[in-house]
Amino acid sequence: MSVSTLDIRVNKVTKSRISELNHDNIQFGKLYADHMLVAYYENGAWKQPEIVPFENLSLSPATTFMHYGQAIFEGVKAYQNPDGDPIIFRPYDNWKRMNRSAERMGMPDVPEDIFIGGMRQLVELDKEWVPGGEGTSLYIRPFMIAVDEFIGVKPAEKFMFIIITSPAGPYYSKPVSIFVQEQYVRAFPGGIGFTKAAGNYGMSMYPTMKIREMGYDQILWTDGFEHKYVQEIGTMNVFFVVDGKVLTPDLAAGTILEGVTRDSVITLLREKGITVEERPISLDELEEAYKAGKFTEAFGTGTAASIAPIAELTFHDTHMKLPAPENAEITNWLKSELSEIRYGRKADTHDWIVKA
Ligand SMILES: *Cc1c(COP(=O)(O)O)cnc(C)c1O
Repeated sequence: MSVSTLDIRVNKVTKSRISELNHDNIQFGKLYADHMLVAYYENGAWKQPEIVPFENLSLSPATTFMHYGQAIFEGVKAYQNPDGDPIIFRPYDNWKRMNRSAERMGMPDVPEDIFIGGMRQLVELDKEWVPGGEGTSLYIRPFMIAVDEFIGVKPAEKFMFIIITSPAGPYYSKPVSIFVQEQYVRAFPGGIGFTKAAGNYGMSMYPTMKIREMGYDQILWTDGFEHKYVQEIGTMNVFFVVDGKVLTPDLAAGTILEGVTRDSVITLLREKGITVEERPISLDELEEAYKAGKFTEAFGTGTAASIAPIAELTFHDTHMKLPAPENAEITNWLKSELSEIRYGRKADTHDWIVKA
């Protein structure tokens, strides 16, 4: 069945909860906008999605995803442009990525009309929930879960696709202190590292707790064979500035999440004439560059934090301390450039902005 956005049934709340939103103190993930989008997949087809009041779901305790983890998600943001209208940053890239995750996890493709059309309609309806103000946004969380009521092990046949949204305040990105992980592994070639599967997050909680106890903020994941090549930091892609060039791990092994922010950063840097190398990066290379005084900046990228400067990297007994963030020229330029584009203050020459 083909789904047309025009036919999305809307069941509006009788009373908005917007007065609960305190613009001076927006706590991410605590408060959700009035509505959500829900679509069911059954008998090989998506049914017409609906926009309904944000509410609890009622599911059988035997629902498949709760046991076997067929669950994937996305993270997108809408911003208020200078005219006060909501604009969404690169949702088509999230849509394509969601379908790559879906394929690997044995889940159905979500059609454009539901993912993009549904998201635009939802954000337009709840546009009052898109905060205005530097650093703020409406975080959009599309996700899909397998909902067969069956605890036998087999790929599910019934799925739910849902979009919820939550206002996000300015993200305080204190430069992060990184611990190079040589015990636990995030992703292997042939695994699901390239997907935004719930399990990738579940497995990271324990190692993250451990390094937090040691006083670090994030893990730098390394390859599982030799713990020699870097992958990602926490749930962000990672970049290093070495000798004036920008280095980031390539995607060939399928162990790294193809970040939308990662792609935006690479595009902006290359347009500015800065060399970006996507290739395997070893810890030895970074250590050597550090000792030679050539390793000058490092940062993580992701929709939540945008650009997160790295203060320090600990590898064995080596503490690589990076210059204070105010001196991180490339990091700071990227941060402001990306921000100008996301808020619609600078011409959108890449077709990254989609109106709600
Ligand atoms: C979501 C995510 C990122 C960042 O991707 P963006 O599209 O830039 O938000 C990076 N790494 C992992 C593991 C992620 O889950």
